[in-house]
Amino acid sequence: MSLNLSKSKYCSLWQCPKIPWLQKFRPEERVFDELLQQRMAVGSEVGDLAMGLFGDFVEVTVLDGDRLDLARMIERTAEEMAKETPVICEASFSWRGLYCAVDLLRREGEGWAIYEVKSSTHEDKSIYAADVAYQKYVLTHCGVHVTGTYLVVLNRDYVFDGTLRTEELFRVTDASEAVEAEFPNIEPNLALAERFLSDPETEPPIDLSERCNNPYICAFWGHCARHLPKPSVFDLYRLPIKKKINFYRKGLVSFADLIGAQSITNEKQLRQLEHGVRECPDYVDREQIRQFLGQLSYPLFFLDFETVQTAIPRYIGTRPYAQIPFQYSLHWIEREGGPLMHREFLAEPGTDPRRALAEQLCADIPQDVCVTAYYMGFECTRIQELADTFPDLADHLLNIRDHIVDLLTPFQSGWYYNRAMGGSFSIKSVLPALFPDDPALNYHNLEGIHNGSEAMAAFPAMEHMTPEERARTRQNLLRYCELDTYAMVKVWEKLRQAVT
Ligand code: SF4
Repeated sequence: MSLNLSKSKYCSLWQCPKIPWLQKFRPEERVFDELLQQRMAVGSEVGDLAMGLFGDFVEVTVLDGDRLDLARMIERTAEEMAKETPVICEASFSWRGLYCAVDLLRREGEGWAIYEVKSSTHEDKSIYAADVAYQKYVLTHCGVHVTGTYLVVLNRDYVFDGTLRTEELFRVTDASEAVEAEFPNIEPNLALAERFLSDPETEPPIDLSERCNNPYICAFWGHCARHLPKPSVFDLYRLPIKKKINFYRKGLVSFADLIGAQSITNEKQLRQLEHGVRECPDYVDREQIRQFLGQLSYPLFFLDFETVQTAIPRYIGTRPYAQIPFQYSLHWIEREGGPLMHREFLAEPGTDPRRALAEQLCADIPQDVCVTAYYMGFECTRIQELADTFPDLADHLLNIRDHIVDLLTPFQSGWYYNRAMGGSFSIKSVLPALFPDDPALNYHNLEGIHNGSEAMAAFPAMEHMTPEERARTRQNLLRYCELDTYAMVKVWEKLRQAVT
């Protein structure tokens, strides 16, 4: 066997044997995934911190330019093991082209234990078993006596009190059982990889399945799904992937197939199918929308938060992956026919944004007024968290929360539908569907920041920018968030027009 396989390639093979083939022979088909990049950056931050989990350590990473010098890393690992260094980070091994770097290799009794660090808070060992089993396989063939296999994940119950306590932030669990169960699968998997990866011309005959969206959509989805009609069963609103695959396997792929088979009974999905196969005017349930609009009153506010989420908590009282609001946009109209007003808040990077944001929110939104949000659960939860953190502001904050009405409701409830919404009722789908030709409402026309993920990445990045870059990013963030609430105003206007 002479495969050239890293740990991450083996794991992608485990997810789907077609992935390493596409990575090797059709890399251009991969769709750049911004969220994946962010997850990788988070993983490296968590990995760096976990190195000190057991006290002193030696890291054997060696760079040659911007690439890892694997040969030198393997040499350095052997040197440190010979010295019986208690913890070796990125300990590297290679056997017949199979390569791996162990996050933490810890001296244990007469051998060495593998510690695999994950930036997740999930402890489900079966998900990571293939990863750790592969490492154990490579190390064992390199002559290392592996005495234990452990998983290190973030402790979701850890609350930051101002001093970061690594031993409390991480949770270590024994993964031996799951690793042992996975171990027999390694050689068959490697044989499969060898068969596939030796043939650049033949794409592995692996069809779409649940694993294509587990837990994220595979980066090669566009390539593997290129034969599907548009729209297809995979675009259907709120249908679990398992059911989509079942329909697909039965040959019920296009919207026409699904209508013909009469397999869909959900009213909203049926409407989506109907609008997908023929030109229909917008569906409007006037009575329901009228009742919904009747709940809104002047002065009427439109609120949207942007948040930042860090794996390692930075602010007192927060846990791993807490959503920290750092910005909001607020449009409002005082009275019927009154002008549209706007206020905004954007924290200074590098500071805890919560107190200043909460104070300004209370100054900007009086008590007992009607506030709209789009997908209000998010805004309500953030406000509740602010109220928990700042009891002196809690009455006002909770009053705001209690007066929020969700502008998503008419769309999610199926009272307003147009074909361009597809199966999504996010503001990013509803807005272009309702206003297809308005450049002022097109997120693509914004500079620098076009979605929440970019905003989330930009705010912490501002800490390391030059003053000019920071000023430009600040403007981009402000304009992005402003468009979110301006979009809500336009959506509200559209709903009003629909019932007059
Ligand atoms: S889209 Fe599905 S079939 Fe294609 S490589 Fe990804 S997981 Fe495999």
